[in-house]
Amino acid sequence: MAWMCSGKTNDELVDNLVKARIISSSQVISAMRAVDRAHFSKQYPYEDSPQGIGYGATISAPHMHGYALEGLVEYLKPGMRALDVGSGSGYLTACMAAMVGSNGHVVGIEHIPELADQSLVDLRAHYPEWINDKRIEIVTGDGRLGHNEGAPYDSIHVGAAAPKKPTELLAQLKAPGRMFVPVGTNSQYIVVYDKDESGN
Ligand code: SAH
Repeated sequence: MAWMCSGKTNDELVDNLVKARIISSSQVISAMRAVDRAHFSKQYPYEDSPQGIGYGATISAPHMHGYALEGLVEYLKPGMRALDVGSGSGYLTACMAAMVGSNGHVVGIEHIPELADQSLVDLRAHYPEWINDKRIEIVTGDGRLGHNEGAPYDSIHVGAAAPKKPTELLAQLKAPGRMFVPVGTNSQYIVVYDKDESGN
């Protein structure tokens, strides 16, 4: 079902993700309804496949975003802190911001400056309060190193999959905390790192 969730509208896309049982938590469903993909993906935003966003980058498929938010739902509660590595279009960063609420904080880190700038333009245009109240921060830089200034994070999503164990990012994860890493572009598998209360 994963590739069959396309819709004609954002709501229809979300409905299809629910029907396919990719998303089921009320927090994820409301976040994906609140954040319209069309603000971040100008062509075919409701197609359930990755779409080009320029500079050789893609916005991930909606079902991948659904899996990521569902996988991190316990670590994206109101007031929590999150890091989105390889934030690209800024779409997932915005969904995470919707979930952590006004007392939470989400840092998106993207290494292509033009994409980081474009995501800020889109976020400012459609969710200005999230930028003004600093709920969302977009940083240009090498995401493999994370963003120590904002650490520790309850959750880390890695959109720019690294082949090796992301040691620097694990160090910035809170105890307890969870890191979610989809690996590969077409056929993907997911690596989840859980840090327990003792930091293991
Ligand atoms: N999650 C985003 C983008 C996924 S594509 C979305 O759905 O819109 C992966 C993104 O990671 C691309 O934007 C790419 O430019 C970025 N990226 C790749 N390597 C990176 C690195 N080392 N540091 C920061 N960003 C990186």
